[in-house]
Amino acid sequence: MSEESRNFIEQEIDKDLKEGVYDHVVTRFPPEPNGFLHIGHAKSILLNYGLAKEYNGKFNMRFDDTNPTKEKSEFMDAIIEDVNWLGADYEDRLFHASDYFDKMYENAVKLIKKGKAYVSELTAEEMREYRGTLTEPGKNDPNRDRSVEENLRLFEEMKNGSVEDGAMTLRAKIDMASPNINMRDPIIYRVAHMTHARTGDKWCIYPMYDFAHPIEDAEEGITHSICTLEFEDHRPLYDWVKIECEYENPPRQIEFAKLYLQNVVTGKRYIKKLVEDGIVDGWDDPRLVSIAALRRRGFTPESIQKFVELCGVSKANSTADYAMLEYCIREDLKPKAKRMMAILDPVKLIIDNYPEGQIEMLPIENNKEAPELGSREIPFGKELWIEREDFMEEPPKKYFRLFPGNEVRLMNAYFVTCTGCVKDADGNVTEIHCTYDPETKGGDSPDGRKVKGTIHWVSAKECGEATVRLYENIIDEEKGVYNEDGSLNLNPNSITVIENAKLEPELMEAKAYDKFQFVRNGFFCVDSKDSKDGAPVFNRIVSLKSSFVLPKA
Ligand code: ATP
Ligand code: MG
Repeated sequence: MSEESRNFIEQEIDKDLKEGVYDHVVTRFPPEPNGFLHIGHAKSILLNYGLAKEYNGKFNMRFDDTNPTKEKSEFMDAIIEDVNWLGADYEDRLFHASDYFDKMYENAVKLIKKGKAYVSELTAEEMREYRGTLTEPGKNDPNRDRSVEENLRLFEEMKNGSVEDGAMTLRAKIDMASPNINMRDPIIYRVAHMTHARTGDKWCIYPMYDFAHPIEDAEEGITHSICTLEFEDHRPLYDWVKIECEYENPPRQIEFAKLYLQNVVTGKRYIKKLVEDGIVDGWDDPRLVSIAALRRRGFTPESIQKFVELCGVSKANSTADYAMLEYCIREDLKPKAKRMMAILDPVKLIIDNYPEGQIEMLPIENNKEAPELGSREIPFGKELWIEREDFMEEPPKKYFRLFPGNEVRLMNAYFVTCTGCVKDADGNVTEIHCTYDPETKGGDSPDGRKVKGTIHWVSAKECGEATVRLYENIIDEEKGVYNEDGSLNLNPNSITVIENAKLEPELMEAKAYDKFQFVRNGFFCVDSKDSKDGAPVFNRIVSLKSSFVLPKA
């Protein structure tokens, strides 16, 4: 592969391998289990997993559970499910940051002994005052020059539980005048009398992220610790920790830009509120872009992989278009999904010259673009359901579907000519009448007669009924994501529920996650939460129309 077609992380890894900095590659995905993963995390997962695979290396899954307050096992289970579903195979390499609490403690003691860490008694507020600002250096902590012995004794007290929360911290001794505020003697341990999900009450001191993370990486033998851009300013501290803790062949941190989607909410805080306010049906509501929601909506791992690839890896923040995600699922399902007949806004079509009570089974290919998907037979009869919009009593120019006197093709069935309609007292069309030409069976006329319109249908007698849900962005895109008060700008039409869509019989047997194209209406997926045996609920994944054009490579 040419150098230009490799992303900047691959170029860095190539260089490291060439220069012998590392002779192998180990990457990791380290989520904090405090919420569901979203499309941005999918990028990180697939990037790290992809690099490990590309370089014949290893990929670790690691829960960053150093903070005992927020972690929830519900989230851990959901994260595992998502990572597995995306196909990022970590084999037996599932770790927890809390696995290394002993190592972190030993390293803290090591730093104290080296004169590189000290126990501080500043309050949080004093700590802020002493820290300085971007333009002014900080001030030294009054306890910065405590003796090693005293630091060891106090840190021991912190660990043994006699120190109250917040009364003492352990700080790295670096440089209070550093232009990088992260290097101004950052806190590396705090006292917190809290029970941890995995280590119970063993610890009442917990390490801070910037100290813990390089140790976790080093303990696992990570070579390339890939994270997002907001950690760039923390890299000097990452490097300080790995060097002062004297790890051999320590990992290297490389930052890339987060993936953002235009007009789409990903922030945990907002999603949590939508869930709590009952505006969405859980973290996996099909209108959200958590990985669980995308799966429920009907996205495939392949479509997300493709999307992440198209987004690329870069150092510059950018925003991707949701239409590109839609493009990816359309492209993925086009050759895979069966094309079925389903009427979402039904109106009756009656064929007056078709024999009463007769049902014909008509053969139909499952997917014209994929002959290997085979064919099926669908029932056809005198009374059909068609889409209401496929008939107009007084059509405008260029309307080629049903109107009195016009002939159209019923997909894979016959040519029919509209003879008129029946209306109720309010003027709503209740039934449409037509006649058929028995010579046109299969949808072609023997005399070469052409029709301009082809419409789909289901047999009124032999069809099933189901709920179908259509979605729009949960955000009102015209107005932007946030209101002035910081609340979300919600789109009142983000969900449309169709209770009695008419479906060809085979669709009634569909199971959770089955995906289909409903001809002319889009791609649909059977909802995994609300469907019952014989009573599927379909979610529209995406319509068939695309506004997205794939950029030229
Ligand atoms: P959020 O704030 O969006 O909930 P987070 O960064 O707090 O996300 P973590 O659990 O800490 O979530 O993230 C795990 C990994 O996923 C980190 O390496 C982080 O950099 C990466 N990550 C998070 N958001 C994105 C994103 N939008 N694009 C790419 N990677 C991301
Ligand atoms: Mg985080």
